[in-house]
Amino acid sequence: MPIYTAPLEDMMFLFEKLRNNKNYNELEKYKEVTSDLVKDILEEAAKINQNLILPLAKAGDENPAILENGVVRTPPGYKEAYKKYIEDGWTSLSCDPKYGGQGMPKTVSAFFDEMLSSASLSFKLYSELSIGAYNCINHHASDELKNKYLPKIVEGKWSGTMCLTEPVCGTDLGLLKTKAEKQNDGTYKISGQKIFITSGDHDLTENIIHLVIARATDSPAGTKGISLFLVPKFIVNEDGSIGTRNGISTGSIESKMGIKGSATCVLNFDEAKGYMIGKKDKGLNAMFTMMNLERIVVGIQGLGISEIAYQNSLAYAKERKQGKTNKTKSTNGADFIIEHADIRRSLLNMKSIIEGERALCFWLSQQTEVSLNHKDEKVRLEAADFVSLMTPVVKSLFTDLGMEITNDAIQIHGGYGYTKDQGIEQLYRDNRITPIYEGTNSVQAADLVFRKLFNKNGDIINKYIDLIRSETDLDNEKIKPFTKEFTYYLNILTKFSEWINEKTNTDKDDVSAGANDYLKTLGFVSIAYAWIKVLDVSFKDYNENKNFYDNKINTAKFYFDKVLPRAEQHYKSAISGSSNIMSFKFN
Ligand SMILES: Cc1cc2nc3c(=O)[nH]c(=O)nc-3n(C[C@H](O)[C@H](O)[C@H](O)COP(=O)(O)OP(=O)(O)OC[C@H]3O[C@@H](n4cnc5c(N)ncnc54)[C@H](O)[C@@H]3O)c2cc1C
Repeated sequence: MPIYTAPLEDMMFLFEKLRNNKNYNELEKYKEVTSDLVKDILEEAAKINQNLILPLAKAGDENPAILENGVVRTPPGYKEAYKKYIEDGWTSLSCDPKYGGQGMPKTVSAFFDEMLSSASLSFKLYSELSIGAYNCINHHASDELKNKYLPKIVEGKWSGTMCLTEPVCGTDLGLLKTKAEKQNDGTYKISGQKIFITSGDHDLTENIIHLVIARATDSPAGTKGISLFLVPKFIVNEDGSIGTRNGISTGSIESKMGIKGSATCVLNFDEAKGYMIGKKDKGLNAMFTMMNLERIVVGIQGLGISEIAYQNSLAYAKERKQGKTNKTKSTNGADFIIEHADIRRSLLNMKSIIEGERALCFWLSQQTEVSLNHKDEKVRLEAADFVSLMTPVVKSLFTDLGMEITNDAIQIHGGYGYTKDQGIEQLYRDNRITPIYEGTNSVQAADLVFRKLFNKNGDIINKYIDLIRSETDLDNEKIKPFTKEFTYYLNILTKFSEWINEKTNTDKDDVSAGANDYLKTLGFVSIAYAWIKVLDVSFKDYNENKNFYDNKINTAKFYFDKVLPRAEQHYKSAISGSSNIMSFKFN
């Protein structure tokens, strides 16, 4: 079984030293969220993840969720762990105290999401979609629905799902066939089939609240005719107690490559009673509230899995002896593989990406809170634009790099990584879904280039570039070599953005073919921006904790020398255009 120790020191470093965003610090709501409180929370979070949840990863992989006589049973140990998990209040961490939540900011809940992703992604998914459903209901449903459903979801007694996908409709939701027939009492009868539904059915909670998109019988075809409905597994009575079973059955559960402990279900809706959320035909807008926040969390899944892959690779490299290095001192026998340059490169590649991603994610969490809670609307909107710009980047880049890192972890373990005993190949298999669900990474890249760079508020990418240019113009001699490099790559990002802008008007195929490259350039430069913030503190506060800051400075140096140049390769590849791709004749 893989080992895992939550990276508390790094998380507390970010919380204490990088919480320097003026707008975030103006939020009244979080004035009482002190470092001491956060430290206590993260220490408890580390205990439950390391001790109780980590062993569930292997248990779930070896004994996947099953469908037995119409009932979905979760893997051994899940029920007991979930009971403790909700008793300790982990589902309620970031929810509104009005509904029983603890009201913690995303700067804290993102750390918890990372730990849980490291420990067991399959187990995490049972509560993750509940938080997504909570956010969607909280933003868009009537007070009646909120008061009836949110407290139980926050408590973790009921869970949530997101039901979009159907056999013929995955990325293109406009094709959906599920029908909603209006009833005299204002409710709807929902009929149709949804597939690939995460936690669609299971035995962990008393009720499951499905958020389902469907087309009202009098609505137009395409995405303009989609509405959103709350459809409970069991009807909830007026007094909040659980009533009769609704018309939803589980057709089957998928047999999958990874996340086997998570029940991915085919759900059949047969005139199931549903309640409309938000406005008719505006269901996709409401669902996007859930999906946008969810996409950042999927990026964090990639980060969490990368962290555990790195920790195990490092431990293995320190104990495995093979071959001799160029400067070996060993007269007989072999050196530890951590002495080999290529293994060291691979480990540093992982570490410099992971720590940079965590710092970037911390910045994004602050922006998210500002976008939701700042008193000045202008400030809120500007932060919302940055969040919307960076959401596809975090979702795609972190999960793609998760594939690279778990792949490299297998390589470092050699044959012991490929075989099952060490649990390393499972990390690769579990992470493989993250570039696919919540909108595939290709679709994220298209979303970025066609919808996020410019919007009704203007030229968002240039606002972002201006922001990071001004924030990295630092008056510190020691940081100058880094900022000089950074400026070089920021200029490439600027040129690349201009190229995308021009091609959007002249040749959309060039933009589509270069979208993935653009996302990566923006992502690698953004991680470098986060590293500059870390470096600024590292040089200023160096004497407070020399070992820690030396480690940060050297890790950043690796990132700038060996990882950041990828930003330029992606640029060069993209500007070669698309004619070679689009004119190619596949036999
Ligand atoms: C384990 C698992 C859990 C899931 N959980 C849920 C869930 O809880 N709820 C839910 O509703 N769904 C869920 N899904 C479904 C998931 O979100 C979809 O699989 C995903 O959105 C892709 O849809 P698809 O599989 O139909 O692929 P398609 O849409 O058929 O895509 C196939 C390929 O074509 C590419 N492609 C498609 N359209 C475009 C385009 N316009 N431009 C460029 N490339 C394009 C895609 O990137 C992909 O590479 C889950 C799936 C799995 C496997």
